[in-house]
Amino acid sequence: MVVEEGVNLRALNSFALPAVARRMVRIRSEADVRRVLDDPAIGRLPRLVLGGGSNLVFTRDPAGVVLKVEVAGMRLLQANDDAWIVEAGAGESWHALVEWTLAQDWPGLENLALIPGTVGAAPVQNIGAYGVELTDRFESLDAVDLVTGRTVTLDRAACRFGYRDSVFKGALAGKSLITRVRLRLPRPWVPVLGYQDLERRVAETGITAPDARTIFDWVCAIRRDKLPDPAEIGNAGSFFKNPVVTAEQCRDIIGRDPHVVHYPLPDGSFKLAAGWLIDACGWKGKSIGHAGVHDRQALVLVNRGEASGAEVLTLARAIQESVYGRFGIRLEPEPAVV
Ligand SMILES: Cc1cc2nc3c(=O)[nH]c(=O)nc-3n(C[C@H](O)[C@H](O)[C@H](O)COP(=O)(O)OP(=O)(O)OC[C@H]3O[C@@H](n4cnc5c(N)ncnc54)[C@H](O)[C@@H]3O)c2cc1C
Repeated sequence: MVVEEGVNLRALNSFALPAVARRMVRIRSEADVRRVLDDPAIGRLPRLVLGGGSNLVFTRDPAGVVLKVEVAGMRLLQANDDAWIVEAGAGESWHALVEWTLAQDWPGLENLALIPGTVGAAPVQNIGAYGVELTDRFESLDAVDLVTGRTVTLDRAACRFGYRDSVFKGALAGKSLITRVRLRLPRPWVPVLGYQDLERRVAETGITAPDARTIFDWVCAIRRDKLPDPAEIGNAGSFFKNPVVTAEQCRDIIGRDPHVVHYPLPDGSFKLAAGWLIDACGWKGKSIGHAGVHDRQALVLVNRGEASGAEVLTLARAIQESVYGRFGIRLEPEPAVV
């Protein structure tokens, strides 16, 4: 086991925030995790599990040891009449997995194209985009219990997926390291086109029955157009979750502004567009210190150069206060704060 010391994490987080790992170990297998836990020098230290760093805000140097997940491998486990079951190592790039499955002719992940980060982090916040969430394609995962060192397998029910949520943000937060994820890609494939941006593409192109590759291309093009590229300007994607409110709260908010963007959910509640609320409070393009609100996408906070994590949080709090003041809604941050 190699313990790297003094590792600069700026290039390992998509916000490009400054932080240094006093110690970092690359995890390529379950056995690597157990070696860390059994090590007398680092086994009892606090740990931060790090994937691609695209959903993290570093406000300080992480304490203890950083476990950088690099478990590799992608394979087909089963081809049943009703689904392909694929398995990928937690350290694989999520987008590379989407591309690989499509190249094999196993569609189903195309709506989730171009989401940054690793396969292992995808269940943590139940990644979602363009009408599909991980839970819709999830079979099971393996994780090492960071207390006992044992590998456990969790099915969908055990993961308790919710909107940008799972057991890994709740009862198992900081207690598990996901090593492998299995996905179920249903056969026959059914396209998911209900999302507004995709409906618009159908209307614009006249392609009413797109194949999975076409949907993949559309999703990539829409995302490149809408979202800032972390390689050009540091960010962690959507900074706040879209708030879900009761019908009564929704009526109250519409009373405050009749233009508020809201979507009915099957259970009678409503999802509000956090980006719209932030924009309505005049934040688009604004900055505090070196942290800013993207000028085309108000939901994305950006690093305008030398921002610190503290500046990002100061900006985030100021946005939360003004949205609460105007709409009575508390915005909840999406990224993990270290
Ligand atoms: C430009 C941009 C666009 C984005 N768009 C979307 C989007 O459309 N939909 C969406 O859902 N998200 C989106 N995100 C957020 C991000 O891509 C996802 O949350 C992604 O799953 C994070 O992966 P990561 O490997 O970078 O995780 P990290 O940032 O490294 O970690 C995130 C959290 O997961 C934990 N973690 C990471 N790996 C493991 C593991 N193997 N085991 C246990 N815990 C682990 C970490 O400790 C941390 O708490 C976007 C981000 C960016 C920068």
